[in-house]
Amino acid sequence: MQTELLDGKLTAQSIRQELAKKIEEHYYRTNLRPGLAVVLVGDDPASKIYVRNKHRASTQVGMESRQIILPDHSTTSQVLETIEMLNQDPSVHGILMQLPVPPHVDVQVILRHLDPRKDVDGLTATNMGLLMAGQPGLRPCTPLGIIELLDRYQVPLAGKRVVVIGRSQLVGRPLALMFIQRDATVTIVHSKTEAPREITRDADIVVAAVGRVNLVQRDWIKPGSTIVDVGINRVDGGIVGDVDFSNVAPVCSRITPVPGGIGPMTIAMLLANTWHAFQETVGS
Ligand code: NAP
Repeated sequence: MQTELLDGKLTAQSIRQELAKKIEEHYYRTNLRPGLAVVLVGDDPASKIYVRNKHRASTQVGMESRQIILPDHSTTSQVLETIEMLNQDPSVHGILMQLPVPPHVDVQVILRHLDPRKDVDGLTATNMGLLMAGQPGLRPCTPLGIIELLDRYQVPLAGKRVVVIGRSQLVGRPLALMFIQRDATVTIVHSKTEAPREITRDADIVVAAVGRVNLVQRDWIKPGSTIVDVGINRVDGGIVGDVDFSNVAPVCSRITPVPGGIGPMTIAMLLANTWHAFQETVGS
């Protein structure tokens, strides 16, 4: 069976080029650019790299980018001050709180104060509620990137059996709702699920968003199905996903690589969300 690689890197590149064009055209007419602020608390090395990548990606498409790095010992109210300042700043259209924050910072309090119109990670209760209600709103970037990648490769979703492995607030749960909205039949598998393999083997599309190397084995999938690997696991200086790629790829019809799959799509959707937030504020 010929397996198609769902290339997130290439797709994200096209999305970024499309956005850059729209941003330049808009700037030419209005002299305004979308502004994205990324807030990092502490000096976690992986988070610093993510923040730097987001900064680079947003400036490359012509956005105004701001990085705010607060010391590790910042209190919840000190972080809130920054969020309130960005909420009020008309040149900032998107605010991203880089997660995780240090344990003494209450992320739920931060999210409660973040202006939902600038919530480009789609994590506030307002945007989660809009997703639940099936209404337009800012959607979390990783699930949005997964749907966008499947759409761009014209993978049918309506009527299909989808299994999402993982039920986090960031990925699994919102993704399941987004698949339902697209008329898929969705099952969520998590750490307490009995006999997960029996469930995934029935699926047309399996999404693994767990963080366990080689969790999804060849005998977990139906031949010809589509496999999306969201996992990021650091091993021997490299990155691998949750799917045993070399054994699964030959039997499925489509699969995302790690790296080069959902990671670049997530950043592209952050930019797309910032563009939407900007348009909602200043108009098109
Ligand atoms: P998370 O908050 O740790 O959630 C992991 C989920 O996996 C939980 O729902 C957990 O179930 C479930 N799980 C754990 N062990 C399992 C098992 N043996 N079988 C089935 N389910 C199991 O992680 P996350 O934020 O959703 O991220 C998941 C993975 O995606 C991580 O590797 C992360 O690095 C990666 N990620 C990648 C991107 C990207 O851009 N590519 C973006 C975000 C996340 P319980 O709820 O029962 O504990």
